[in-house]
Amino acid sequence: MEPTQLPEAERAFKYFDLYGSMRAHKIMLEDMARMEAYHSAIFKNKSEMIADKVVLDVGTGTGVLAVWAAKAGAKQVYAVDASNAAKLARRLVQSSNVSDVVTILNSKVEEVEIPEPVDVIVSEWMGCFLLKESMFDSVAYARDKWLKPGGLMLPSRATILLGLYAPGNDSDRTNVVKLKLEKEIAEWKETVSNLQSLDVDYSGFTSEVVQDLSDYFLTNSMRVNYLSPDDLASAPQKVLEFDCATVDPTILVQFSQDFEYTISKHAEIKGFLGWFTTDFPNGVVLDTGPGKTYSHWGQQLYPLKESLKVAPGDRVVGTISVSRDPDEPRFNVVELKYQVNTGLEQTALFNVGDVQHLDEGSKNVFG
Ligand code: SAH
Repeated sequence: MEPTQLPEAERAFKYFDLYGSMRAHKIMLEDMARMEAYHSAIFKNKSEMIADKVVLDVGTGTGVLAVWAAKAGAKQVYAVDASNAAKLARRLVQSSNVSDVVTILNSKVEEVEIPEPVDVIVSEWMGCFLLKESMFDSVAYARDKWLKPGGLMLPSRATILLGLYAPGNDSDRTNVVKLKLEKEIAEWKETVSNLQSLDVDYSGFTSEVVQDLSDYFLTNSMRVNYLSPDDLASAPQKVLEFDCATVDPTILVQFSQDFEYTISKHAEIKGFLGWFTTDFPNGVVLDTGPGKTYSHWGQQLYPLKESLKVAPGDRVVGTISVSRDPDEPRFNVVELKYQVNTGLEQTALFNVGDVQHLDEGSKNVFG
């Protein structure tokens, strides 16, 4: 097991080590919702916002956004990445014949020196439930240091949304926690019998396995990406919305927002569902919500211990509080306080970090 609190240098090493690998970038490059949104954002806005401009790409990864900015006519692109992905970006820039415009800088953006202020900052900094990874801190730092007054941020706005998860009739997936537990228990039983053949008996530990895993599933968010808007008991609500050009990133460290949903149908609420959208100029939106094109972020499901039976006209009121995990500042802790009408207030606490992925097939840990 890892110690809970790693020293900052070790954490930074682990984080950038991950992005040095094509394994991480493959998942992002395969995400066509993400790729098409950034492509449209750059090319739809190219003549007024990119052509002849100086662009800074914060966290260039394999260099895709820098290459697009160059192809859209940027005068100069500074593409910064602290990980070994900078080497991959250098190759993409060369093979795309934009080496005369794009300068790759293998550095943390907080430490980089660039020769001039920039007109545009482009960055793909979003994580699960928007804020996981806390990379916007670095983007805001670069903005305050290098962006000209009135300069453009891509994306320009970010919004977190929260809905009430009340799955329809898809019986395979209605009780995600129960199904996950059943799978784990079946695996555990197989393990017990495998170990019996190695002369050790773990059959007395099954109740702890069940207890510890169900506690774990009920305190960690899960990523899902197969839901539709019909799986919500009412319209989603905005939890946070900010302008990337002006927001003070310290407000993202801890914030709370009240909510009040009016229920539109008979439903059994089994959890809360969170996701985000980001907006670019000219109406380009990256929407990771239920029913949208697959994205590697999916939605975050916060399952409830006891489901809530509701009817049209009922109100679900409460507060969501999001803060950084004290043990791992790139992760978040989400606290949900909620009640139906004037019923008993309940509290559920979740970690958004060690995300459980429920989209069969893909077991990635990024986003
Ligand atoms: N822009 C690329 C990669 C996005 S992933 C794309 O859209 O495909 C985010 C990248 O930002 C990673 O490669 C990571 O190494 C880099 N990054 C994160 N924080 C950074 C920082 N403070 N300084 C420099 N690079 C950073």
